[in-house]
Amino acid sequence: MAKFALETIRHSASHLMAAAILELYPDVKFDIGPSTEDGFYYDFDFGTTKLTTEDLEKIEAKMTEIADKKLPFERIELSREEALKLLSEKKQNFKVERLADIPEGEAISFYRCGKFIDLCRGPHVDNTGDIGAFKLTSIAGSYYRGKESNPMLTRIYGTAFADKKELKAYLMQIEEAKKRDHRRLGKDLDLFSISETVGPGLVLWHPRGGFIRNTLETFWRKEHYENGYDLLYTPHIGRSNLWETSGHLGFYKDSMYSPMEIDEIDYFAKPMNCPFHIEVYKSRVRSYRELPCRWAELGTVYRYEKSGVLHGLMRVRGFTQDDAHIICTPEQIESEIEDVLNFCLHIWKTFQFKEIKAYLSTRPEKAVGDPARWEQAQKSLVNAIEKSGLAYEVDEGGGAFYGPKIDLKVKDAIGREWQTSTIQFDFNLPERFQINYIGEDGQRHQPYMVHRALFGSLERFFGILIEHFAGAFPAWLAPEQIRMIPITEKQHEYCLNATRELKKAGFRVECDTRSESMGAKIKDARMQRVPFMAVVGEKEMQSNTFAIRSRREDQLGQMDLATFMKKLQNEVDNKL
Ligand SMILES: [Zn+2]
Ligand SMILES: [Zn+2]
Repeated sequence: MAKFALETIRHSASHLMAAAILELYPDVKFDIGPSTEDGFYYDFDFGTTKLTTEDLEKIEAKMTEIADKKLPFERIELSREEALKLLSEKKQNFKVERLADIPEGEAISFYRCGKFIDLCRGPHVDNTGDIGAFKLTSIAGSYYRGKESNPMLTRIYGTAFADKKELKAYLMQIEEAKKRDHRRLGKDLDLFSISETVGPGLVLWHPRGGFIRNTLETFWRKEHYENGYDLLYTPHIGRSNLWETSGHLGFYKDSMYSPMEIDEIDYFAKPMNCPFHIEVYKSRVRSYRELPCRWAELGTVYRYEKSGVLHGLMRVRGFTQDDAHIICTPEQIESEIEDVLNFCLHIWKTFQFKEIKAYLSTRPEKAVGDPARWEQAQKSLVNAIEKSGLAYEVDEGGGAFYGPKIDLKVKDAIGREWQTSTIQFDFNLPERFQINYIGEDGQRHQPYMVHRALFGSLERFFGILIEHFAGAFPAWLAPEQIRMIPITEKQHEYCLNATRELKKAGFRVECDTRSESMGAKIKDARMQRVPFMAVVGEKEMQSNTFAIRSRREDQLGQMDLATFMKKLQNEVDNKL
């Protein structure tokens, strides 16, 4: 066991950084410096001084100097008056405001480390030598208290670990992640773009990205029909009374866009598909005999996200959920949940994600719905997870007020975890919309309702896939599967004929007839992550073959077209 928790080390590193900055920039004003999921940051006001990434090195050197001195973190408790006096003397106006946030009666503690003294709750490591290894990573602007009307501060990010080895492994992962950044690959591979003219957070799918999306959708639809789902299509907007009934205008309004008016009635772009599916259910009387309803839709929704949090495909304002709702009887719920979870796992394995972990969130204190139903719902979730053999964690009381849920997190090729599928019970909407079915007893009963998404959204899933495969999509997803490379003009006709044959057989192939060298053509095909190259020179033409190179296995030797097609078809069929 490490001596200190990682977050304690990281938070202490933020003090260390602040101490170094105080020495280098004596007039700096401090805001706060918490630890984060992968490091720490501290917000500063440097006045008119502008910091660049080059300054980070200097700050790091100063941090090392202080760390080596093994200066202790000393806790000092002050009265509110004393604290105010100290901070005012140091002209730390942000800290004065933060002091006012501390409730009456709570201890006001400061931590001193060398010359730097900070208003802080703690805890910290014992001395600056306990911060094993650290690195400053970036600089960004950040509004004081996250509010755009407040002054812009300078946020410096860093990370820290218990030792140098862990830091090194983390930094290598970051390097690898940069190479795989879906925003960069999206541009290099011409997959998608986001245009300021169209609007931030709104994705334009280019032909190559569009091809992949179409392949994903086709796969998704086929799998859903095979797993007993029906597909729905519902509109993008719905009138205000729908969203009042659903409760969205009550608790979700901040994430919805302003309405548009049609015939003097407000219509809202949908942030969710559920109310529409419920209206399909309510379109007539339902009998227990037709349950379960498993209704899926690739439904495009619009949600407001602050411009500061938008991020490539990962966080957007318009996206297509691979949504589904299961409406069933209490007797059916257990096997339905089991099926959904297995369906999820099948999907993730198809895309070559091997490590999957489940997170179960249970009933919070404030909740709607019958406690007995919560009990049954949670039991069905636990049973399904245990039968699947997945590792899982329980967030006791961490569920939404309307029902318990399972979230899945998958690990990608470089070990990063992504939150993806969700299986979420809902005791709220069936109540609000008064949905029911006629049971065997001839009486009306309230069904169970479950929301679930496998990919999450197509946009985010695509982003994850780009990074997971580093743009090198398996042949079944690759927008271009084969690049035909004639070495000289003499082979053009031969190659163009083969290109036509391959296209006729349903493969996606391009022929590079530019007057570039073979080396340059191969390099370009590699850059575009094309799974196979078919190089043709005099020798291949004579023997009626192709020199096949695979992105994965390199040189595969000479093959005739039929043999190559068979190999390719095998990769496609097995989604290799
Ligand atoms: Zn602290
Ligand atoms: Zn839903």
